[in-house]
Amino acid sequence: SIAYLNGVFLALDEPALPIEERGHQFGDGVYEVIRIYGGKPFMLDEHLDRLYRSAEAIRLQLDSDRAFFQTIIHQLIDRSGLADLDIYLQVTRGIAPRNHTFPNCPVSISMTAKPSRATPVELKENGAAVWMHPDERWLNCHIKSLNLLPNILAKQVAADNDCLEAVLVRDGYVTEGSSSNIYIVEKGAIRTAPLTNQILAGITRIAVKRIAQELDIPFHEQPFTPEELRNADEAFLTSTTLEVMPVVRYHDDTVIGSGKPGTITQALSERLSALTL
Ligand code: PMP
Repeated sequence: SIAYLNGVFLALDEPALPIEERGHQFGDGVYEVIRIYGGKPFMLDEHLDRLYRSAEAIRLQLDSDRAFFQTIIHQLIDRSGLADLDIYLQVTRGIAPRNHTFPNCPVSISMTAKPSRATPVELKENGAAVWMHPDERWLNCHIKSLNLLPNILAKQVAADNDCLEAVLVRDGYVTEGSSSNIYIVEKGAIRTAPLTNQILAGITRIAVKRIAQELDIPFHEQPFTPEELRNADEAFLTSTTLEVMPVVRYHDDTVIGSGKPGTITQALSERLSALTL
């Protein structure tokens, strides 16, 4: 594992930031998590696109260009000596005396490179359980902001109840997971919430949508209710770290579909794995 902060490579546990850093004090920043497979970043262009969109959405002026991020990421890969990594990349509004209004200082850019978090193989093979939780987040969920408190609280309730993920519900509809997108399959078609301010535009969602098109599986971007999830033929989650994760159960032991990963879910999962080889 290795880290990068404002021009310097350092060990992960090295003290690095002054107390008055706006990410630390305000959560005033945005981030990305990028997967490295076999030494190669997966969908890096899409991650950087989203990083610039998030920065712009919070009026954070990010002058570093794509080549800068690409270079640092490749240096982290080389220095780590590892082939399969999770890169965490964060940009904050910098280091300045604590005051809500924007400071006049350079942004802080930091990254960590760590061995990929082990994908829960057993869960992937058998499918995961989910916990329904009210979506208590703000109205700018399309921004990949550092402020994750509602996500953390929801995910912890799920974990306390032996569920992998909290599925968030707003105004009677499922939005997304606390750190994933969610989909149902009914009559051979995939359905997932449309891209609005209520969900994060997942990079894995882009991949899955492309794969669905390739495989001629209809991909409908329409919201669904918890009831429709309960009655779906199949359900699955996607994220950079989970990839395609089958969902087979509600917390109360209600079985979704056959109670086993569905055929469309498995086809998407296999095709995605093939892309990362
Ligand atoms: N929604 C939320 C709230 C997330 O935190 C994540 C994980 N970044 C996702 C969806 C999935 O996005 P991605 O496929 O880019 O990892």
